[in-house]
Amino acid sequence: MVHFGDLKPKKGKIHIEKDRCKGCAFCVEYCPKDVLELSEEFNIKGYHPPIVKNEDDCLYCQLCETICPEFAIFVTLKEEEEEGEKGESRP
Ligand code: SF4
Ligand code: SF4
Repeated sequence: MVHFGDLKPKKGKIHIEKDRCKGCAFCVEYCPKDVLELSEEFNIKGYHPPIVKNEDDCLYCQLCETICPEFAIFVTLKEEEEEGEKGESRP
């Protein structure tokens, strides 16, 4: 069995510039963790932008950011401090 030592899985924080979005749903379709879905609401251009449905599952793979033709979504690495509140339980 492979041990990864202290390596923790990365977590992403997703940022959506909803008014840049053209509603193509590439980010929704290609996200490997099914983190996104298209919103019911319309943006300023009349498209349905994505919304985050389960950010905790985001792997920070940045595929959504890479694939978006409109630069309407990007992901930053969630810092450990932000994770603090829901971090591991202590002995
Ligand atoms: S970074 Fe990866 S896992 Fe996170 S929302 Fe984008 S495609 Fe999904
Ligand atoms: S890939 Fe970009 S343009 Fe397409 S739905 Fe996602 S955010 Fe909108």
